Amino acid sequence: MKGLLVINAGSSSVRFALYALEGGALSPCLKAHAEGLGSAPRLHLQDGVERTSLDLPPQADQQAAVEAVLDRLEQRFPALELLAAGHRVVHGGPRMHRPLLLDQARLRALENFSRLAPLHNPHNLNAIHALAERRPDLPQVACFDTAFHRSQPRLAQLFGLPREYAERGILRYGFHGLSYEYIASVLPEYAPEASRVVVAHLGNGASMCAIHDGESVASSMGFTALDGLMMGRRCGSLDPGVVLHLIEQEGMSAAEVSDLLYQRSGLLGVSGVGSDMRELLASDAPEAREAVELFCYRARRELGDLVAAMGGLDALVFTAGIGENSAEIRAGIAGSLGWLGLELDRVANDRGEMRISAAGSRVSCWTLATDEEGMIARHTLALVEPVGR
Ligand code: AMP
Repeated sequence: MKGLLVINAGSSSVRFALYALEGGALSPCLKAHAEGLGSAPRLHLQDGVERTSLDLPPQADQQAAVEAVLDRLEQRFPALELLAAGHRVVHGGPRMHRPLLLDQARLRALENFSRLAPLHNPHNLNAIHALAERRPDLPQVACFDTAFHRSQPRLAQLFGLPREYAERGILRYGFHGLSYEYIASVLPEYAPEASRVVVAHLGNGASMCAIHDGESVASSMGFTALDGLMMGRRCGSLDPGVVLHLIEQEGMSAAEVSDLLYQRSGLLGVSGVGSDMRELLASDAPEAREAVELFCYRARRELGDLVAAMGGLDALVFTAGIGENSAEIRAGIAGSLGWLGLELDRVANDRGEMRISAAGSRVSCWTLATDEEGMIARHTLALVEPVGR
């Protein structure tokens, strides 16, 4: 069996997906999720037949997770011929527009972008190095979360800073690009007439993207994955004066401010209950309710911003953990958009149907499952196929 391995490495978890390649078509045949790295690491595996979970050694990191999954793949699929591995790499900097087959020089260039995404890129690179150590001849492909947004017009990328900062790469990049690219690739099947689309990727990390005729034209995330919507633990848009105040008046160090904005804010910070939307929706605490309301309010405001950037809206799509699963949050965002021409079908929304706008709604509204791993597999195949010929 020929196959492709997809790896999506984060700070405390790594997701894996194995795709079989038959007759030029990719089909998923195993998913694995290593979680709790750094605390209580466990590996969950799921194939078409069974689900299993096992403890990893307490000190297991991304490298250990990669090795554990390779061991399992060798046991489970002894005849597997891996053609390549595709990785999600969060930040590709200003010049990475498309997926790249990695070599030493490109890896060094990527190490430089770790400065731009210190919480993500180093983990992505750890997984790449771990795999290279075990399988030095395996082609590895980097797929960037920023790449889909490189089509944005210059105005959408610029900050109101002196020009030399833009020249040094201080621009709005946007993230979750693999998710948006996947949704943009499947939406025409459902809404072929929709030209101006906003996709709300609402998960632990959350952002929104304006997509005009299939291309990203603006997004809520900016230079880092901290901007825009309020998230599980990240604050989202914040007056930069708050950061100055914290440093100058409250004496916080850069590391303390970073920890506050990335780890202790968002749903967790506002609620004081937790960062997990399910937990907040189930909680009676007024602080949890307020955090949920703020999440929806911020999303409605960001939506207005993106609609203004496109000059209108034909379709709104919800995706990712919260977007795909929570009727309450979808209603909190899209239930009061009559002014925009969007009438939500509350029954369809409660049932979690794909189309959740009412029959006469001028703007259509959708719940679509995203598939970042599938997108990485497609890109990886497109790059390595010529190598195999
Ligand atoms: P993701 O980062 O895409 O895996 O999404 C994780 C987020 O989705 C967490 O905040 C979860 O609480 C949330 N989530 C998953 N399922 C549900 C659900 N049924 N209702 C509300 N939130 C959910």
